[in-house]
Amino acid sequence: MSFADGVGDISISDNILPLSVWKAVEQSITETTGHAFSIKNQHRIGGGSINIACRIDGAGRRYFVKLNQAEQLDMFAAEADGLCELASAKAIRVPIPVCYGKAAGKSWLVTEYIGFGRGEEDSAQLLGRQLATLHRQSSEQFGWFRDNTIGSTPQHNAWSNDWVDFYRDHRLRFQLELAARNGFAGSLQIKGERLMANLDVFFSSYAPIASLLHGDLWGGNRAFDESGQPVIFDPAVYYGDREADIAMTELFSGFGADFYAAYQEAWPLDAGYSVRKSLYNLYHILNHANLFGGGYAVQAESMIDRLLAEI
Ligand code: ADP
Repeated sequence: MSFADGVGDISISDNILPLSVWKAVEQSITETTGHAFSIKNQHRIGGGSINIACRIDGAGRRYFVKLNQAEQLDMFAAEADGLCELASAKAIRVPIPVCYGKAAGKSWLVTEYIGFGRGEEDSAQLLGRQLATLHRQSSEQFGWFRDNTIGSTPQHNAWSNDWVDFYRDHRLRFQLELAARNGFAGSLQIKGERLMANLDVFFSSYAPIASLLHGDLWGGNRAFDESGQPVIFDPAVYYGDREADIAMTELFSGFGADFYAAYQEAWPLDAGYSVRKSLYNLYHILNHANLFGGGYAVQAESMIDRLLAEI
């Protein structure tokens, strides 16, 4: 979908974005880059689940912009920090953040615009190897220096020395308590409590290191640039068990056999991953229950049933 030239007549879907927002975005880009920027064209980009996404063009420059309500500014600040953290690993291409801010009731994040292509024959393999390199960037502790969001749900990342405690308290318990407040009380909670009380069982012979994670690595958050280089974006960064990232790639599928073969060759996974995979994807399914409701709470409960059967 494209829009008429000129910032005066922007309307995006049903959301009218006031001219003052675009003027503030222009000013913010101008101040950050030190070069005057004026928007000549905007194009709406689909595919996102949370925000309005656009490409903005002006005098030979092009940026990617995500917009939301002003209250979401901190979500964008955390995303910018996450992209910087991922970029610092020099493992996988990510869009470099330019600026974020808010005006006239809206907030935004501006990043480098990356033109996506179909990928080359070896692009999936490359992503597998590069993800293993990303995961080799590690921290002394699990967590991160700041909280962020998973989708639009808060994600708490308080540093912890113990992965099992971290995963129990900041991932499973947080989502289960939210689910109870969202009307999914009852057997989901009772079984969830039992699972959390027995979490150590899944780690009896496995002690993960704290790897830098993308944190929300489903197929919709990875692409290939026009030269076939993998790109990852829209992260929910923290330092945790690398199996959590790999599990999410399997949740909605799409990464392909070459990707897994290359990852395993670069850094083989522990045999217990096949069981822990459900434990890690349970977090995302609980989050989906909290964001979208419907059958996700039922799916979460049957995942818990299968995990309890392992105890
Ligand atoms: P949301 O936060 O709403 O989920 P995304 O970050 O996933 O939004 O972005 C929405 C879509 O925009 C993606 O599916 C992708 O196709 C495209 N996209 C994301 N980042 C960039 C970028 N830096 N350059 C070009 N297109 C991008």
